[in-house]
Amino acid sequence: MKSFVLAFAGFTLLLPAVVPTVQAQQNLNPIRAYREAHEAPIINELVALLAIPNVASDKVNIRKNAAKIMAMMQQRGITTKLLEGNGPPVVFGEVKTPGATRTIALYAHYDGQAVDPSKWADAPFTPTLRDQPLDAGGKAIPFPKAGEKFNPEWRIYARSASDDKSPIVAMMIALDALKAANISLSCNLKFLFEGEEEAGSTHLEELVTRHKELLKADVWLCADGPVHQTRKQLLYFGVRGVVTMTMTVYGANRGLHSGHYGNWSPNPAMRLAKLLASMKDDNGRVLVAGFYDDVVPLGVEEKKALQAMPHTDAELMREYGLAAVDGAGRTLAELINEPSLNLDGIRSEYVGSESRTIIPAEATATLDLRLVKGIDPRKQVERVIAHIKKQGYFVTTSEPDQATRLKYPLIARLNSGDGYPAVRTPMNLPIAQKLIAAVEKAMGYKPVLAPTLGGSVPLYIIERATNAPQIGLPTVNHDNNQHSANENLRLQNFWDGIEIFAEVMAMRW
Ligand SMILES: [Zn+2]
Repeated sequence: MKSFVLAFAGFTLLLPAVVPTVQAQQNLNPIRAYREAHEAPIINELVALLAIPNVASDKVNIRKNAAKIMAMMQQRGITTKLLEGNGPPVVFGEVKTPGATRTIALYAHYDGQAVDPSKWADAPFTPTLRDQPLDAGGKAIPFPKAGEKFNPEWRIYARSASDDKSPIVAMMIALDALKAANISLSCNLKFLFEGEEEAGSTHLEELVTRHKELLKADVWLCADGPVHQTRKQLLYFGVRGVVTMTMTVYGANRGLHSGHYGNWSPNPAMRLAKLLASMKDDNGRVLVAGFYDDVVPLGVEEKKALQAMPHTDAELMREYGLAAVDGAGRTLAELINEPSLNLDGIRSEYVGSESRTIIPAEATATLDLRLVKGIDPRKQVERVIAHIKKQGYFVTTSEPDQATRLKYPLIARLNSGDGYPAVRTPMNLPIAQKLIAAVEKAMGYKPVLAPTLGGSVPLYIIERATNAPQIGLPTVNHDNNQHSANENLRLQNFWDGIEIFAEVMAMRW
């Protein structure tokens, strides 16, 4: 609070040198003006939160994070509640607006991915300011003091700077700025800050289901993920679901000498390669029967949005060293709206200098199946199993015994996870249109609209429990090293996030 006052004093003192005209003062965005006058204390608050280690399995520190966020919310008059289950607590908050009939709920997560400090340039929980991205030679610089300016291209390096603590702070600052500018909220607000998203949201479903009355809202906004690679603001209206499966195929019940038994004993690595190759054509189209059935087609709005998305395929191909890609000429953005079958990896015997001249006993592959709206995870796994059977395999879920091995020439052991389904909110819903307009107003340009985000986030959990539309409103930079070492936040994205959240909280609908 002290630095708050100082910042104000600094601003006031500076004013005479840069007195804006009355006209300019009227045009000034009050949210931006608030931020510009308080940059140092705003960053201090973010830095204090980033300094608390937040790996979901670190029970002590995860609670410190939750307590800190509760305090930040209470300081702003938000009614808070810790939702307790068997995992890290969920921080819930609520702002009731007199006379409001609608409720916007905002989601973010306060836990982060595990860290390997040896791979970081700075300690991951000692937030460090750099004047440029590290890979462009960015140097560590001191944090400016109250009243001093921050260059918007500077970056803060720390775990969860982008994924996903800064959106939480941006929401809080948006509330401060609205209050300072005397702009009233247009609706009730609810906040849900999860503490184990990076650990798979294992306990979220139970908590959300138990508190579904409390979590009722007209729309849920998910402040997770990055903006578009062009640095343009992005809204996503769906996320893919996912389910994984691991398969093992067998040869003889032990590795056999390739000289003595080659040409005679079947090779499971070859069999697996052939089985996998049977699943896709040369364009990457999946050949498993029914794989694309049940997909809910994109609507008119979604198709228009796809057309309007910036085309970055050629740049991405250059960046990733690809002379050709799958998809028979269709764009990446388009292909993300289809289910996919990906081979995560294959393992059999040793290779290279470690290899030995044997026929392996078995070979294993793991697949991930990304799902889009309409596809049931279980059913998609069943389709792949049916395909494997069609190739002549006996499919089992356990290690085959000798009797099974003697009975079936081709055996595949298959195990799959439960997975979860995709979510897609129609873009033509009135609330979706309002939100697009609010973001456009805040940024001064049309945001990129993605019908589906490529990655998988279990938004279905909240959708299923609350029956409310789910829309993604990410704010952080795409080049933030999310999940790996040297995670960072570009300040301009943080500043934009504050203005976007403020606009959304005050939008009329
Ligand atoms: Zn995240």
